[in-house]
Amino acid sequence: MTSAEAHQQELEHQKYLKENHVCSVCSCDYTEDEGGTVGYIGILPVAFCPTCLAGVIDMAQQYLGVEDQ
Ligand SMILES: [Zn+2]
Repeated sequence: MTSAEAHQQELEHQKYLKENHVCSVCSCDYTEDEGGTVGYIGILPVAFCPTCLAGVIDMAQQYLGVEDQ
């Protein structure tokens, strides 16, 4: 695969995640209205459903030692 093809594949994957909102953690489908988010971890496009987003934030808070306010 050429780097142009790899780039194209990455763009399609990104588009797919944005349009379909398939969670990168639990693979469930979710809608924009339910919450959740789409973004990047480094160069890796990811989507988190509301449940997994809350879980990831909770893990990050524990990891960083942030107390619930
Ligand atoms: Zn999920």
